[in-house]
Amino acid sequence: MKLHIERDELIALVQDLIRIDSVNPYLDADGPGEREMAVYLQAKLVEMGLEVRLVPINETACNVIGMLRGTGGGKSLLLNGHMDTVSAKRMDIPPFEPVHEDGKIFGRGSQDMKGSLGAMIAAVEAIQKAGVRLAGDVILTFVADEEYKSIGTEELVKEYRADAAIVCEPSDLDIGVVHKGFAWISCEVRGKSAHGSRPKEGVDAIVHAGRVLQEIDKLSKQLMNKHHPILGSPSVHASLINGGTELSTYPDYCRLDWERRTIPGESKQDVEKEVAAILQKLHDEDESFRASAELFFWRDPYEVSIEEPIFLTLEVACRNRLGRVPRISGFSGWTDAALIQEAGIPTVLFGPTGAGLHGAIEYVETESLVDMAAILAETICEFCR
Ligand SMILES: [Zn+2]
Repeated sequence: MKLHIERDELIALVQDLIRIDSVNPYLDADGPGEREMAVYLQAKLVEMGLEVRLVPINETACNVIGMLRGTGGGKSLLLNGHMDTVSAKRMDIPPFEPVHEDGKIFGRGSQDMKGSLGAMIAAVEAIQKAGVRLAGDVILTFVADEEYKSIGTEELVKEYRADAAIVCEPSDLDIGVVHKGFAWISCEVRGKSAHGSRPKEGVDAIVHAGRVLQEIDKLSKQLMNKHHPILGSPSVHASLINGGTELSTYPDYCRLDWERRTIPGESKQDVEKEVAAILQKLHDEDESFRASAELFFWRDPYEVSIEEPIFLTLEVACRNRLGRVPRISGFSGWTDAALIQEAGIPTVLFGPTGAGLHGAIEYVETESLVDMAAILAETICEFCR
């Protein structure tokens, strides 16, 4: 079968997407959110003849779903990409006026991940133009808010099921199969306020918070003994600290927040126990140490087996197109793949090459988008036939 990616159409589509500001308003108050982008994509998917739904989530956020129905009896495949971007302030290039130069498309979201959204669409168009009739459904999902709290994919997995999924985050045309999870912990250390000249009456909450920091430092060294073959060690770091009232007073309160990055096999309960053990130890050493802590946000780590049919199918398509064996890779950051995998859908990560995601100069490499679209098209045809 002949699957042809319309290169110029793909480039024009990605440039159109970059022109639409979809900065996440939870990250940058001036960001408009995903609504305009969603309306644009909705029109595009309707034009392609897909079954289309625009699913509002709140005033600015929504998902767009485009379904290419199969004839029945085949396996279904869900492709996922987020429409939002991080802030476009502090960029060294015009964020929403895409320039195509030296085989690169520049602009905010070009690599993360409007290039991928274009490639997802180009893949389905190639299948349609080739006249291929698939047995299984292809579900194109364009979601909101991945860069903040992933409310888009959270909504999506409540309603949609598929036999496998590809999250099209940039992976340098390798296949991502694992990434870390994370936990956010807030700790309130209680002291006793007193005049600065009366040490017997005061308990210094900030100094006590310093003891917690020392334990975090020890923990970060202990965590190096844990190891994942692709991700390496889990980690912990202090993030925020706040306390004290004025120079001449013993502080009665200090709040300390930290982040723990986890590897597969580490559970929320494990991290909660680790936190409790730190506070218990400090209290045992000094009865005047009083603190409480809460694990207030948790995201699971993600890992998929390389025996999964979607991995194997995608790997063959990569080899056919690129003439090389794709690397089995890990992502440094967290992605929506964790939520989709958690919902029981085997999920891999696959996307283009480029640089500068979240940075001052962001670009995606044009040929990698064409390759990506061709690889997705072949993967869909094999997986859903
Ligand atoms: Zn992304």
